[in-house]
Amino acid sequence: MKVKEACGVVGISAVPPTRVAPQMYVGLLALQHRGQESSGLCTVSEEGLESRRRKGLVSKFSGTEIDRRKGWAGIGHVRYSTTGAVRLREAQPFLFSAGNTRLALAFNGTIANYRVLRKELRRERYKFLTCTDTETIAQLFAAKLRKTGHDYISSFESLMEELIGGYSLAILNEKGDLFAVRDPFGFKPLCLGRLSQESFSVSSESVAFDTMSGQLVRDVKPGEVVKVNHDSVEGVQIQKEERHAHCMFEYVYFSRPDSVIDGRSVYQVRQRLGRKLAKIHPAKADLIIPVPDSGRGAATGFSIESGLPIREGLMKNRYIGRTFIMPTQGFREFSVKLKLNPVRSVVEGKNIVLVDDSIVRGTTIKHIVRLLRSVGAKSIHLRISCPPIIMPCYMGIDFPTRRELIAADYSVEEICQYIGADSLGYMSVDGLAEAIEIPRNQLCLACLTGDYILRERLKGQSVEALETAFSRRLPSPRQEP
Ligand code: SF4
Repeated sequence: MKVKEACGVVGISAVPPTRVAPQMYVGLLALQHRGQESSGLCTVSEEGLESRRRKGLVSKFSGTEIDRRKGWAGIGHVRYSTTGAVRLREAQPFLFSAGNTRLALAFNGTIANYRVLRKELRRERYKFLTCTDTETIAQLFAAKLRKTGHDYISSFESLMEELIGGYSLAILNEKGDLFAVRDPFGFKPLCLGRLSQESFSVSSESVAFDTMSGQLVRDVKPGEVVKVNHDSVEGVQIQKEERHAHCMFEYVYFSRPDSVIDGRSVYQVRQRLGRKLAKIHPAKADLIIPVPDSGRGAATGFSIESGLPIREGLMKNRYIGRTFIMPTQGFREFSVKLKLNPVRSVVEGKNIVLVDDSIVRGTTIKHIVRLLRSVGAKSIHLRISCPPIIMPCYMGIDFPTRRELIAADYSVEEICQYIGADSLGYMSVDGLAEAIEIPRNQLCLACLTGDYILRERLKGQSVEALETAFSRRLPSPRQEP
């Protein structure tokens, strides 16, 4: 069984006897959009590491339970798996041992060669409780710690040499040392914040610091390990790649607009994408309607550039989760029907520019176009702030197989026809890089271009590693969408 994750991590180190659990809980709530299937907190006190995990939302933890938690340092996690099964034992933080030392790990990303690593560890008699790449990282790190006599930096160095993938890690030991680790290409975001004079934090996104009344200090650099204590932060550059590969989709869709990632405001990026879209694909229309919530930033940019008014023509049921992170296609279709309702008084008789962030399968946007037509939209010009997604992601974002990606086999005209829009305009790949303000060769654009940077690193690996990473989702024959 394959398990992949697109998750969020948070960690805090404060001075004893501060109790960090309430702040961590708030930080995790801010990262809830990164995963809704399970959540967990692990704190360290004089009694050692204590971990609690729940299926479902962070709010499943009771206030009393959080208030009572001891511990001056901790890590937390929200998880989204791409497998149908959601099991508590695969929830994180993941507890493990290296000799007599207990540790906890929270992980966001995907390890392309984890099956090969796992097999090797099994040969060395390591036992596994789950099928996740998380446990493989944990066991591998435990092996490194044992070999180096618990020299953490040498162990991370050796770990980074073996892991091939996109990953951001938070690791906590029984002494309360908190380590933040980002892969050498910087696929996944990870940043460092300060919560008070005596408290530092790490998080997948800076928005967690805002909610915890703290401040963003800086990003963890690709290939860096940062050791965080309540009174010090020590960064060690373990690996330095000339080429980085920051995931473009964090800016386009996945991260919260109020986050700052690698020095760029996600909201400003989305607005620049909208302005560019208006220049590349102008439309004669009466108004702009964003697909809530992810289309809003780009719709604002489109409005600024085009001078067209922006109106809320689609109302969202806020109690239904994002379709993208529901576990199966059956759930997704059901949730779309529950999720959005058109506002007749805004839509009827109008020529509309409908702005959304991306098209994956095409089923959601087709439904939205149909909804707008059902209340009298005169024409619908669809504008998408992400270029066509033509390949799967192997670095931790849950895109479906190539067979399910509508842009993999169909032209823009064919997609427009399928969706039922009057026109369709996508952002270009160059326009996307310009809007993010990161050079094209420092971004991961693999799902748009097929240029997988990890393919290079996997050269010389066993055939099995290559298969694990790239061959399970072979291009499919052309099918009707
Ligand atoms: S393939 Fe796409 S979604 Fe995956 S890391 Fe690269 S840019 Fe992000």
